Amino acid sequence: MAFRDFSRRSAASRSDRSAFGFGAGCALLGLVFGVMGCADPGAETGSGAPPESAADLVIWGGKIATVDDQQPEVEALAAKDGKIVALGARSEIEALVSDATEIVDLRGRLAIPGFVESHAHFLSIGDARIQLPLSTADSWAGIVGMVREAAAEAEPGEWIRGRGWHQDKWSDEPARVVNEFPTHDDLTAAAPDNPVLLTHASGHALLANAEAMRLAGIDADTPNPAGGDIVRDEQGKASGLFNETAQGLIHRARGGAEGAASESEALKMVKMAGDECRSKGVTSFHDAGSPFSDVDVLRKAADEGKLGTRLWVMVAGSNEELAANLADYKTANYGDHDVLAVGGIKRYMDGALGSRGAWLLAPYDDDPDTVGLQLSDLDDLRRTAELAREHGYQLATHAIGDRANREVLGIYAEAFEAGDGTPSKLRWRIEHAQHLDPEDIPRFAELGVIASMQTVHCTSDGPWVPERIGDERSEAGAYVWQKLRESGAALINGTDAPVEDVDPIANYHSAVTRLMKNGETFYPEQALGRLEALRSMTLDGAYGAFQEDVVGSLEVGKLADAVVLSKDILTVPAEEIRDARVDLTIMGGEVVYRRADGR
Ligand SMILES: [Zn+2]
Repeated sequence: MAFRDFSRRSAASRSDRSAFGFGAGCALLGLVFGVMGCADPGAETGSGAPPESAADLVIWGGKIATVDDQQPEVEALAAKDGKIVALGARSEIEALVSDATEIVDLRGRLAIPGFVESHAHFLSIGDARIQLPLSTADSWAGIVGMVREAAAEAEPGEWIRGRGWHQDKWSDEPARVVNEFPTHDDLTAAAPDNPVLLTHASGHALLANAEAMRLAGIDADTPNPAGGDIVRDEQGKASGLFNETAQGLIHRARGGAEGAASESEALKMVKMAGDECRSKGVTSFHDAGSPFSDVDVLRKAADEGKLGTRLWVMVAGSNEELAANLADYKTANYGDHDVLAVGGIKRYMDGALGSRGAWLLAPYDDDPDTVGLQLSDLDDLRRTAELAREHGYQLATHAIGDRANREVLGIYAEAFEAGDGTPSKLRWRIEHAQHLDPEDIPRFAELGVIASMQTVHCTSDGPWVPERIGDERSEAGAYVWQKLRESGAALINGTDAPVEDVDPIANYHSAVTRLMKNGETFYPEQALGRLEALRSMTLDGAYGAFQEDVVGSLEVGKLADAVVLSKDILTVPAEEIRDARVDLTIMGGEVVYRRADGR
């Protein structure tokens, strides 16, 4: 449908072509056959390029920012067989237009390379869209209402899932509470024939209804699993709230030993995630940690041409699983147009700052008894580093606190010394690199370690970061994008979706303004320039996945991945950036998304 929709728009914009002699004929055809007759690109272009050398698609009529230093801005672009074949003045590109060429007329708008999302969770984006969006509910009654509506549409027995509820957001009080949390009763009444599973915003607890607990075999005698808690009422009956590992009891009732999605459900998630990416202009995506079983699903989707975006996958698993599978799963280029590549390994050094899980060198300001959590044994991570080198994988380790970052940099340095002394070839990354001790900032550039950051986290979390680590540490080392850049480090940028929306525009706005939701700016001297920010989300992101020769900028020979924006985010006043919309997404020279209400 995207093609047909697009053609119609191309017909509506015929006036600017009249200067080249096509307009009158097209208008006449339009009168005779109606708009759709004119919508056929063949009816209105008709230039003389021989079909074999003609472009499949050209873009012109506005500003094309290439993110290529050699030629930062051009008037026109031509693509053929999925790749960019020419860039330059419109008069040069016109020679490549034939009857079959699809024309994207920018009409003054901006075209840029397709966005590279450098850290997010692909299947989880789809999963989040399948589930009820409970974070939008401002009352418990609202949540119960959403479940009731979903149950009315679901088949009996079908699972109803939601995520993101948070009791602090509610304006009302549930009729019955145990340990300050609602019980299953309202959910059981709203969906008597459907199992219900509602995950808390933190991910650390869930609410289940009676049917879900029945399927899970929960009764008064079910023991608490290690590291988990089945919350019980005064009579000792399960209240419906399952904490930490106890959530697994309900997840496992839903599907299989690990509570994993079935293949058909997983493919549905892939479809929804791909659609969401295209609608946001994301044409390349670094998936930050998928088990090998999910990679199988992604391969299947790639085989069927249903991936939706170009994926660089970091696999996740124990060292035993990695040792057994890394060789088999390494893929530089799977499917059409480099759709799927598997070449990274994801590990975790610590947790998150909000829950005081980030591993710090010195105690938290708001809890002097803790320095956070170390989630991986150092020797375990050393072994992963060894496996990564042995199999030629990129290692990508989650590190948020300054201690976690220091330990990971140390382990990377050891691994590079043990190797052939060329760390930059490995392009290992630290995911988040959120809070750094000033001494460690230059080590990224020195070691060739990529700082894989999420500029939108800074503006979302900034208001409470100084509570956790104080003003001094916040200024010296939190989200220090400019300090890293000035030291020569590669900085790549993502959203960590579904933690944040997979929206490059919001992320870009955060990168260039550091404007928080409370209206204040978080140490604005660390903001990125407009072009720097765009690079971090395009060409530099491509570097983070060894794909800078294939995508990330608009250059001859690269895949024709581009986005048309309704506003020029490189020049509009900062407060207008967030109004910019993705009007068109082009992948491999094909229009794969067109905004319904776009001009
Ligand atoms: Zn993540």
